[in-house]
Amino acid sequence: MNSIAERLTEVRRKITEQCERHQRRPETVQLVAVSKGKSTAAIIEAFQHGQVLFGENYVQEALKKIQELHDLPIQWHFLGPIQSNKTRDITTHFQWVHSIDRLKIAQRLSAQRPAEQTPLQVLIQVNIDDDSAKAGVAPSQVAELAEQLSQLPNLQLRGLMTIPAIKAAPVDAAESFAAMNRLFLQLKAQYPQIDTLSMGMSADWQYAIEHGATMIRIGTAIFGAR
Ligand SMILES: *Cc1c(COP(=O)(O)O)cnc(C)c1O
Repeated sequence: MNSIAERLTEVRRKITEQCERHQRRPETVQLVAVSKGKSTAAIIEAFQHGQVLFGENYVQEALKKIQELHDLPIQWHFLGPIQSNKTRDITTHFQWVHSIDRLKIAQRLSAQRPAEQTPLQVLIQVNIDDDSAKAGVAPSQVAELAEQLSQLPNLQLRGLMTIPAIKAAPVDAAESFAAMNRLFLQLKAQYPQIDTLSMGMSADWQYAIEHGATMIRIGTAIFGAR
């Protein structure tokens, strides 16, 4: 069994390779290590090997880890569904939220963001495959929500996030990633501060990089099975 450090090195090597294959500079793709279900010891091991961005899905689990690791300059990304009664915890302890799909939640995150902190960096989650099992807004709703979010003082809209529907083969996600990239480029033309397209997980990130992902979220390939 390989160590977390070895798997992280291997993932980074493959990301560089894939970027080169598609004429992209490797530094245009950020890696979020998804540590849900994993221990703080696992997070520390990855951090000691240069990993700074970590993603979590469950508020209670994440808060424990964030408190335990408060000495480390980790950038925490919230990836999971957001309940109204958890917005204060999320906006107090995370730097990024990838799963915005309702104005009401966004308003709470902005209103509750502690005054001494810089704006919360947010992404709109898009349900690109119209999958009833997935959260996210329809592609046709992105423009309206983006306009509303851009009015909120303590949020900064950075781009879009998606989780494609489960497909027969990872390559089948490529079409969804390409559609996301078109949506992202449209939005970016309108809002100059938009620079982040978060898509691609352990099984399909290669296709996400091919189609313009600037942030990929990888758990299993770094930390092992959950
Ligand atoms: C769990 C999770 C990931 C990581 O998934 P892996 O398949 O383990 O790489 C990425 N993004 C989100 C939103 C997740 O919930």
